[in-house]
Amino acid sequence: MQAVDLIRTKRDGGRLSDAEVRWFIDSYTHGRIADEQASAMLMAIVFRGLNPDELSEWTAAMIDSGDRMNLSTVGKPTVDKHSTGGVGDKVSLVACPLVAACGAAVPQLSGRGLGHTGGTLDKLEAISGWQASLTPEQMLTQLHDIGLVICAAGPGLAPADRKLYALRDVTATVESIPLIASSIMSKKIAEGTESLVLNVTFGSGAFMKRLDQARELAETMVHLGAAHGVRTTAVLSRMDTPLGRSAGNALEVSESIETLNGGGPSDLLEITLALAREMLALAQIDVDPASVLHNGQALHVWNQMIRAQGGDPDAPIPIASRREILRAERSGYITRLDAFAVGVAAWRLGAGRSRKEDPVSSIAGVVCLAKPGDVVEKGQPILELHIDDVERLGGALEALIDAVTIAPEPAELSPLIADILRS
Ligand code: URA
Repeated sequence: MQAVDLIRTKRDGGRLSDAEVRWFIDSYTHGRIADEQASAMLMAIVFRGLNPDELSEWTAAMIDSGDRMNLSTVGKPTVDKHSTGGVGDKVSLVACPLVAACGAAVPQLSGRGLGHTGGTLDKLEAISGWQASLTPEQMLTQLHDIGLVICAAGPGLAPADRKLYALRDVTATVESIPLIASSIMSKKIAEGTESLVLNVTFGSGAFMKRLDQARELAETMVHLGAAHGVRTTAVLSRMDTPLGRSAGNALEVSESIETLNGGGPSDLLEITLALAREMLALAQIDVDPASVLHNGQALHVWNQMIRAQGGDPDAPIPIASRREILRAERSGYITRLDAFAVGVAAWRLGAGRSRKEDPVSSIAGVVCLAKPGDVVEKGQPILELHIDDVERLGGALEALIDAVTIAPEPAELSPLIADILRS
């Protein structure tokens, strides 16, 4: 086969055969197809898409590019969650220990943040000593003993995606539903989980800006999961406003611990419990997660996981000593607090990275002191910027220039959860 012929087929709207898809993914993973040819194929897919058969084969080939983990020795039903990303999205930090405390095993292989959305591993690394890298043996032992592991995916997990995602990032080919769906699902299926709950977000702070796009992505991923034997549910939720009160690594860890202690903001609690209920339903475990959150068992599993991965759950979470307050310009009702603006501000303060090799700051971030629906007086603090490097403050303030709308009348707030798609 010749890569150029396959690119031409896709460019002209044709269908790639199963053998062609396999050959393309295998050859690119092993360096036998050049980046420029793979880029052309990706761009052709952005414009022409992949039909369901091509997408299923493309995903299968990505899974088979590496190892598929075998979690059968864990001795409990396995269920994971994945979020397509958002600002202040710390749901994994609460939902994963919670579901483990209810009796499931949660093998959360996670990534790092890129751009304005944070990454679970970056957040956990704010905890003194906590390690993201585990061997497959350590991972299996921890899953068996504690029921929870949150760690970095090793190089053997869907290596085709690792290469393709890096290329998509620099060739403007990330925004394609089949490419996003195959990228996410190949990693989750290769991880070996029996069941999966996807939180597909939409709105200003999410990948997908509109509900119809999020729904299409969710449906595509639910079908891919089912086709590969993974029971999959998708929860569609709004991401126009930051989730909870904070965006930033250590800040989000503190808020998660508060929630694991039975407190926490109501929106974070709502989405966490909704995801936990779906995870438990797929795992066929009949336990009420709200009671497990309140009786301290979820926090106990969190502490065990932190300790098992080298961290000290009793160590103080670092916090910035330098802060800057932004105040309400007028009195009224907050009708909008833009998630994207807050995410960019936290990122520019140092909480996120622009390139995957950049370091991140643990303490930088933004705390939302008021949120949509709240009444504020002129001059009342609305946002608190947590500063690590003062040089970064100007860029963050610029991102927040039009982040908040205050109106004389309250606006109707849309429900956080828009829909749930079950296979
Ligand atoms: N996250 C992924 O893992 N892959 C994508 O393509 C987009 C988001």
